[in-house]
Amino acid sequence: MRRVTPIKLSLLENAESFVAESISKAIAAEQDPRQWKFAILAAVQAIELILKEILRREHWTLVFQNIDKPKLTVSLDQAMERLRNIARVEFSKSDAATLASAVSLRNQVVHAEVSFEPNQVKAIVARLIQFAAHLFSTFLQKQLHEALDAHLWLNATQLGALADELRATARARILQESVDAKYLMDCWQCYGEGVFVASHESYMATCYVCGNTDVTEWCVVCGHAVPSVEAISVFDDDADVWACNGCGTDADKMNRFYMAREEKWLAKHLTRPAERACGE
Ligand SMILES: [Zn+2]
Ligand SMILES: [Zn+2]
Repeated sequence: MRRVTPIKLSLLENAESFVAESISKAIAAEQDPRQWKFAILAAVQAIELILKEILRREHWTLVFQNIDKPKLTVSLDQAMERLRNIARVEFSKSDAATLASAVSLRNQVVHAEVSFEPNQVKAIVARLIQFAAHLFSTFLQKQLHEALDAHLWLNATQLGALADELRATARARILQESVDAKYLMDCWQCYGEGVFVASHESYMATCYVCGNTDVTEWCVVCGHAVPSVEAISVFDDDADVWACNGCGTDADKMNRFYMAREEKWLAKHLTRPAERACGE
């Protein structure tokens, strides 16, 4: 008898394969718009599996509808609800709205006649892929691109209509969040311009296109955020002072900066004894 090797995928691997499938279908949809239908199905499925994986990491029983009878697994809505209540995961209004329209589109695709605007579906798929990238880097301690074929990821984030859509939705989100220009950097992972967003609260920045995360420094000269990989050390003896590429490579600017700093130092140290003398 021939032995059949069973295919076994972990929850995470299963989620990753659905993200890959969704991206492949979205790329194929450029030639054949009917493929959007499959791109959306796979994207919704991927998000559902990612949310379950986050729940599973909290506790394995949370993946099940009824934790006393671990048989049927949770729906996407239930998964979101549990993550909100138990793992304190915050879903932004726009993420929740995207998920709701995605689920309703999926239900149409699976259960009834379907008519859709390719542009509308394109935007939803792009947002779901971005959401997946965000969930990966925030909750699964992994970058989405690490789970995908390099060529596929390059296609998704740098070439063609899907890449345009990913960048457009990232820019819209940045606009919506009124992010100050000094927080915006270029992403060295997907080469998206001005989509790598530094945070007010932490030293981490996140790319709104590909989910790349990295430590950020702040340029001491112009105050702009700078990715740590590109930051230029200003003083050899003080490793915590950085300049951005624009300032750090501009000799005139740096000379003015050193002079201003010198003047400040002199003003502070030379006036003190005089002030003391006056007070005596
Ligand atoms: Zn990026
Ligand atoms: Zn600068």
